[in-house]
Amino acid sequence: PLRVRYAPSPTGHLHIGGARTALFDYLLARKTGGAFVVRFEDTDQTRHKESGIQDQLNGLRWLGLEWDESLDIGGPYGPYRQMERLDIYKTYQDKLLASGHAYGCYCSELDLEQERAEQEASGEMGGYSGKCRHLTAEQVAAYQAEGRVPSTRFRVPSDRIIAIEDKVREHVEFDSNGIGDFIIARPDGIPTYNFAVIVDDHLMKIDLVIRGEEHLSNTPRQILMYEALDMPIPDFAHLSLILNTDRKKMSKRDESIIQFIEQYKELGYLPEAVLNFIALLGWSPGGEEEMFTKEELIAQFDLDRVSKSPAVFDMDKLNWMNNAYLKKAPLSRIVDLCLPHLRKAGYLQQGDLDATTGAWVEALVGLNQERMRYAAEIVDLSAIFFKEELIIDEEAAAVLKEEHVPVVLTSFLAQVEQAEVFTVEAMPALLKAVQKETGFKGKQLFMSVRSALTGQVHGPDLNVSLFLLGKEKVVSRLQSLL
Ligand code: GLU
Repeated sequence: PLRVRYAPSPTGHLHIGGARTALFDYLLARKTGGAFVVRFEDTDQTRHKESGIQDQLNGLRWLGLEWDESLDIGGPYGPYRQMERLDIYKTYQDKLLASGHAYGCYCSELDLEQERAEQEASGEMGGYSGKCRHLTAEQVAAYQAEGRVPSTRFRVPSDRIIAIEDKVREHVEFDSNGIGDFIIARPDGIPTYNFAVIVDDHLMKIDLVIRGEEHLSNTPRQILMYEALDMPIPDFAHLSLILNTDRKKMSKRDESIIQFIEQYKELGYLPEAVLNFIALLGWSPGGEEEMFTKEELIAQFDLDRVSKSPAVFDMDKLNWMNNAYLKKAPLSRIVDLCLPHLRKAGYLQQGDLDATTGAWVEALVGLNQERMRYAAEIVDLSAIFFKEELIIDEEAAAVLKEEHVPVVLTSFLAQVEQAEVFTVEAMPALLKAVQKETGFKGKQLFMSVRSALTGQVHGPDLNVSLFLLGKEKVVSRLQSLL
């Protein structure tokens, strides 16, 4: 059983990158009968947003990634947010100071800036110089007399090759000489990410750390601290970057991709489709099959099949996949997804629907179920049934110029006016009667009616479309055309 964790910094909504990490964590926890832990890394107070905690959890919940331990439900290794664990970090910080693996650094921001400038000028590279590594008791006393409060730095050993057998990236090596002594706790006592993360992963008994590739260069630092504290080192799996279809690194401002899970929810995507799609960002099952339920993913997922080359986020493919899921979903579920959008567009009243409106909306959604990529599209797809004014496109306009059209439409208008019922089922008989009276049938009949009433030559089922327009709109549109 693997204990794994998703450790977001709560800076906002759940991003697709984070969602992928959380999904892979979840799949392995379920597959091995382990535990999926969600821990909040909120020590960066400049980027912290308190609402980010609920936003992250809501995103995970919507995707169906139930966690076993976190700050809302607790668990055996809490607290699950770092700002409530400051005493714990302090204990380990003291241990590192006592063993000489860490030291107090009195350099001010200004000192450090100067140092960086000097390094740059001399073409030298590589982090902090180690100026405070060997301070004498007098120097320390002098700094303290000035009122300086030290930050704590980790003493990086020289000439060490730090090797990682990453579950995705395989063998990776780092030279410790390229890593300057780094800060593990600031003067105010708040630990930095690299330090807090190892303390937490250790105490929370995490077996495997899954996270984005951008953290790979942090890993040697973390390994050195595990060693200094004599703690076992967990396994690591660093997931590749996610690129857009231009093969550029996706930035948070990239508008070609919908990036936050919340947006998918709002647009009326199905969570199981989004989940399925995200699973394929870097993982491939081996065969041709691409559609997987969560249970199938749990059974089949394996880090061995996670690629180290970047994943490409193809919005068209996601839309295709969501459409495939929508087609198979029960109509009532899609109606529920569409209703808020129809209301927001002002097409429907707020509040409960009466039976007639309910049946009408069901027909409307049913008519578009095959075409919709996500529920919000119902608004555009159904505009012809709501807008007073009909926009006739070029092709339809051409059809309407044909000679037989007035004859067909006049006859159809008469049939509609006489009709006692105007249901989907009643339409074939009305059209048949027009055929009998005028002698026009097939394309000449149907295209004329469709073009006149929908303004387009192609479109969804004609009988349902006529029913949705309703008798009144059909009559007025025909009258104004004739
Ligand atoms: N808080 C870090 C982040 O959001 C987590 C990195 C890790 O999983 O170690 O990027």
